[in-house]
This record gives sequence, structure tokens and C-alpha cells, in this order.
Amino acid sequence: MKKWVFLCLILVCGFAVYNITPFFEDMNDIKINQQDQEENEVFEVYSGNTQKIKIAEKQIYEGNLLLVNREYPVRKESVITDITSLVNHKELTKGYGLHNTNIRLSKMVTQKFSKMVDAARKDGVSNFLISSGFRSFERQKELYKEKGPDYALPAGHSEHNLGLALDVGSTQTTMYKASEAEWIEKNAWKYGFILRYPKGKADVTGIEYEPWHIRYVGLPHSAIMQEKNFVLEEYLGYLKEEKSISVKVNGKQYSVSYYQVSQSITIHVPDNHHYEISGNNMDGVIVTVFP
Ligand SMILES: [Zn+2]
Repeated sequence: MKKWVFLCLILVCGFAVYNITPFFEDMNDIKINQQDQEENEVFEVYSGNTQKIKIAEKQIYEGNLLLVNREYPVRKESVITDITSLVNHKELTKGYGLHNTNIRLSKMVTQKFSKMVDAARKDGVSNFLISSGFRSFERQKELYKEKGPDYALPAGHSEHNLGLALDVGSTQTTMYKASEAEWIEKNAWKYGFILRYPKGKADVTGIEYEPWHIRYVGLPHSAIMQEKNFVLEEYLGYLKEEKSISVKVNGKQYSVSYYQVSQSITIHVPDNHHYEISGNNMDGVIVTVFP
């Protein structure tokens, strides 16, 4: 069977629907439906026409879901392209502090962070600052030399080299005790962020608990990871295994599908929905279809 026919069949496969009881009160609106891989069933969520799109191998290394750790480095071409110096963007840095004037970060991620800080303020949590953002490979190399392998990652292996991660602080106290950290742990997912190195996951991430380091992955991924208590390594492994899931977040239906990519592949996506493609930095791409 031709590969594209097979992939098309994956896309039109049906759903084995079950709901997972949310463990956070806030998660009451999240329902995860897992699609099984039986052929000949109807793709239920998105009716209407589909279009064929081609996915090239280089797309494995682009997007918001790239896995970066000791095993999978950031490639130079993966670095987010909208990196900006925050001190020059007063409109992006209202309501929180900057640890120093050199902090750079993706403009898109900074906008999401601002939105998150605004929401936290409404909950009475308002002493955020950004202590570190994007780091060049050169800066990471220096840091690794200065701090050593126990405290820093080698150049290219830190999420800070990608542009989608930042370290958040509190102006009042250490993040181990701060209400800012507590708020992030509970709510950051609503704004597309994950706590990348949570408690009890060092055996998976290779990094001890860091209450300050957050990573942008976007919705619905942050919601699924929160709901299922997955770190990024676990989430990408889960998608690879399930191939395709459907998730309802705040009443809106998303579908998330994994495709292995070697050289290039052709897949079908719904015609009338926005979709995004991100590589996993390993062996494939994740296609997210939005409501
Ligand atoms: Zn960090």
C-alpha cells in the first residue's frame, strides 16, 4: 500500500472514545478521546473536504513541540526566528520585571507570557520577573564552562538555546517558596506553557525540579500534559504510540496526530480548519487541527 494511502486511512480512522476524570478542578472541560487505528471508520470530528499537504524531512526540526534535552540538541535551523530584546519592548513587558537588560526571547512567547502574568495578577499573584530567556550557543558554551555539567547543559542541549523557554522569578522570595511558582504550576497550561522540569520526573527529564523554568508548547498540548501529568518526553512518546488523539479543551475540539517522517510524506488535513505542524526533533511531526 502506498504510504500516503495509509496515512490518509489513519486520518479518517474512527474514535474509541473515553473520558479521563480530570485531577484539577480547572480541568473539568478537558476530555481526551483516543482514536484507534482501525481502518474503514469515519473521521467524525471534522466533516467536509480535506486537502493534501506535503511534509518535508526538515519539518522534523521546526516548531513549538521540539524535544530538547541531553539526547536531542537544538539544531541551528530550529532556533525561533522572532527573538527580540525585551528591554526595547516596553509594550511586551508590562506588569513584570526583567532581571537584567540583556534578556532576549521569542516575541510570540513574550506575548503569551504577558497574558499569563495579567491573569495571575487578577488572582492576586503579581511579583513576576524574567530572569533568563534565549541564550545563544556561544553564551551556553560559556555558562557550561563556568558552572559545569551539574548546573548547566552543553551548548545546543538547553531549551534556552531554542527561544521557547524562560526562567521566571519572584521579586519577593525564592521560587521554591514563591506564590508565583505555585500559581504557574497550577495555571500556566492555560496559556500554553508547561513546567518543564516538575517534581518527581528527574528520571525522565534528567533534570531535578526547577520551579522557575517554563517552556511554551501551545494549546491543546499544555492542557493534555497537565491533565495526564506528562513531561514533554512522555507526551511525545504517548502521541507516537496513540498516533492520533482528539481532545476537548474548554468545550473546543482539537485533534493531534503524529506522523513518522522519512524523506517526505503526504498527509490529508481538513480543508476548513486551521492546523499547525511541529516536528518532535526526533523522527516525525505532530499535526494539530484547531477548532
Ligand atoms: Zn531555565
